[in-house]
Amino acid sequence: RARLAQSQNVFGRGLLTLLSGDTLDDDAWDEIEEILITSDVGVTSAGQIVESLRTKVRVLGTRKPEEVRALLKAELVAHINPGLERAVRTEPHGESPAVIMVVGVNGVGKTTTTGKLARVVIGDGGTVVLGAADTFRAAAAEQLQTWGERVGAPVVRKEEGADPASVAFDAVSRGIEDGVDTVIIDTAGRLHTKTGLMDELGKVKRVVEKKSQVDEVLLVLDATTGQNGLRQARVFAEVVNVTGIVLTKLDGTAKGGIIIQVQRELGVPVKLVGLGEGPDDLAPFDTEAFVDAILG
Ligand code: GDP
Repeated sequence: RARLAQSQNVFGRGLLTLLSGDTLDDDAWDEIEEILITSDVGVTSAGQIVESLRTKVRVLGTRKPEEVRALLKAELVAHINPGLERAVRTEPHGESPAVIMVVGVNGVGKTTTTGKLARVVIGDGGTVVLGAADTFRAAAAEQLQTWGERVGAPVVRKEEGADPASVAFDAVSRGIEDGVDTVIIDTAGRLHTKTGLMDELGKVKRVVEKKSQVDEVLLVLDATTGQNGLRQARVFAEVVNVTGIVLTKLDGTAKGGIIIQVQRELGVPVKLVGLGEGPDDLAPFDTEAFVDAILG
């Protein structure tokens, strides 16, 4: 199984070296704060973490690397809101399948995540229908089709340029007819104009809701894009009721600190992480493991 990236982790090592060094003066604390900001933890959180850590280190009078590490880890874990509900709802309700919409800008890993998520549901003994509602690029539907074949899920698709909402509607209808557990809808991610996106995603959701409730709207964010991820999250949260974040490409970066900001600002939990391009490279978000990876 793939793992979170740890190797190139100067972040954790740099922090711990500073924290357990001989001189923990104002300059050292500033540097610690800067490292946190560089790793996309966010200015506000970085400030709070440093302040709280500084007090604890002083009160406890500790400089032992293991103890300092434990204190820093506890601060980071607390900033990731360990209390949030992170399970993805994939269970059908009554006659209706669970409906999951996967949203995000192009290239973040929506289609890949859709395929991997289908694999998880099928691996747990469930059944899935996939909907290719990104009708703007023929390649997108092709790619989802390939994933469907790989994981054993039928794909509902239409010709290029078809109405995304009608594809989503048909996918949910097919899911109901076939009595499957979960319908997962891959959507388009053009962010040319916010209004366009708003109209389209909103319409997809409204049309699906004529048939079934929408149980999850998973926003996919690429961990390597830093602050851009936060901007994307803000736009999507305005447009649809995002229920969870999928943080992809964590195998390629130790920077995922962006989630601390996203979760705090939007109050939406990271539910899943992408750890590679393969069908089994999707895992539930584990706060402790995530912080361990950040600290290296
Ligand atoms: P979409 O445009 O949002 O649907 O993005 P895609 O699903 O097409 O993914 C874009 C690229 O990112 C593809 O090359 C994927 O294989 C790759 N990708 C997606 N998720 C991950 C991940 O968790 N780790 C890595 N390393 N690559 C990923």
